Amino acid sequence: LKSLLKDPSLLADRAYVDGDWVDGDESATFEVTNPARGDVIANVADLSRAQVAHAIATAATAQKEWAKYTGKERAAILRRWFDLMMENQDDLATILTAEQGKPHAEAKGEIAYGASFIEFFGEEAKRIYGETIPGHQRDKRITVIKQPIGVAASITPWNFPTAMITRKAAPALAAGCAFVARPSELTPLSALALGVLAERAGLPKGVLSIVTTTNASDTGKEFCENPTVRKLTFTGSTNVGRILLRQAADQVMKCSMELGGNAPFIVFDDADLDAAVEGAIMCKFRNNGQTCVCANRIYVQAGVYDAFAAKLKAAVEKMKVGDGLEPGTDLGPLINSAAIKKVQEHVADATAKGGKVILGGGAQQGPGTYLSPTIMTGMTRDMIVSTEETFGPFAPLFKFTDEDEVIELANDTIFGLASYFYAKDLSRVYKVAEALEYGIVGVNTGIISTEVAPFGGVKQSGLGREGSHHGIEDYLEMKYICMSV
Ligand code: ADP
Repeated sequence: LKSLLKDPSLLADRAYVDGDWVDGDESATFEVTNPARGDVIANVADLSRAQVAHAIATAATAQKEWAKYTGKERAAILRRWFDLMMENQDDLATILTAEQGKPHAEAKGEIAYGASFIEFFGEEAKRIYGETIPGHQRDKRITVIKQPIGVAASITPWNFPTAMITRKAAPALAAGCAFVARPSELTPLSALALGVLAERAGLPKGVLSIVTTTNASDTGKEFCENPTVRKLTFTGSTNVGRILLRQAADQVMKCSMELGGNAPFIVFDDADLDAAVEGAIMCKFRNNGQTCVCANRIYVQAGVYDAFAAKLKAAVEKMKVGDGLEPGTDLGPLINSAAIKKVQEHVADATAKGGKVILGGGAQQGPGTYLSPTIMTGMTRDMIVSTEETFGPFAPLFKFTDEDEVIELANDTIFGLASYFYAKDLSRVYKVAEALEYGIVGVNTGIISTEVAPFGGVKQSGLGREGSHHGIEDYLEMKYICMSV
């Protein structure tokens, strides 16, 4: 991997704690593999719980100074970090593809997307405004100020190894918090490369630590039980989110949760079908179906069902499965064999319940963890894919007849992250957008992620919002000062 990089020093294998690059206790390491080939590409420091606790303690010390910086001073450092990410976009994408699998062009997109949060929240650092409120008595003056929460800690998944961290770290650092990041054990290299660039950008030591460790549950406990941590931010499954919320309850810790989704993608009779197919491809097959906003259930109105299925099939057939580092690859490997198994189970279940495979079928190709994309028709609501997130390249097509029916179907889930629909009739567009019980609605588009908008879910998809001016609020406390004059 080093030989593929213009700047090999971006490839770090030690953890970043208090401005130092550290080994695990007793030199413990863990292997990072490339899902495209299954070979080991790095051995990374495996920190103990005591080392994680140490990172938290140093973050608390660093935070006190960091909070004194002006917004403009913090913004300047974040801007340099953003610039360095963009200058090294190609190398960062190569590291990302090597450990995660997504095609290099998509990885470059993630680096730009991830960096955009650092740019955006750096700018926001200058605009953490309080307010004044007319007093309730003649001698009273009321002021509201916003202050950083303190030390924030994150746990993030492997599907966006860079962006899931910057989306949290950038608002935290802009607000004046210190940040301890625990990346997924499957994709620590992208996180560590961010640390290399943060150091170069001049971020003071201890303000950002990156604790690589295989022991996720102990780290989660340390983050929740250590009273120095005042804020936990998590992206991952709803199941792990529930565990962390329970653990965080003892300290009444502030939590932000970006959890699972089960996105409906609805195509009405009046939709522009070609646009809908294009949107479905981007939405379903980006990152090979491994995003929490990927279309999971595709509902197509009866009048256009067959035509949509045929067009989608024709487009997906052309997609090239392969190593993300090879040019022309549309779909990389899945993250591991467990991910393959889950998709295969969903396909087998739907087949057993009467669904018809019109493309693919879930057959695995080796030696990496590859799966050919699958499309099925004749889907029904008793199939597992109606209630569970597949997280892979499986597009199930459900047929519906009227608007009320599809709204009921779309909302029939514990999740409420992203939803999408294609339609032209204006009153339908309003009505459906309002009726969908989701934090995000894409209308005539399959791509909704941007740093300038609030991303987040309702119901069991999460708590809080990331991105936009709202995103920084999750790292700020409000203080009301009542003064008698
Ligand atoms: P995914 O299906 O995206 O892997 P998970 O919720 O299993 O979702 O994992 C998201 C992150 O949470 C990963 O970094 C994983 O290592 C971590 N994790 C898993 N179990 C726990 C736990 N009990 N406590 C804290 N973190 C956990």
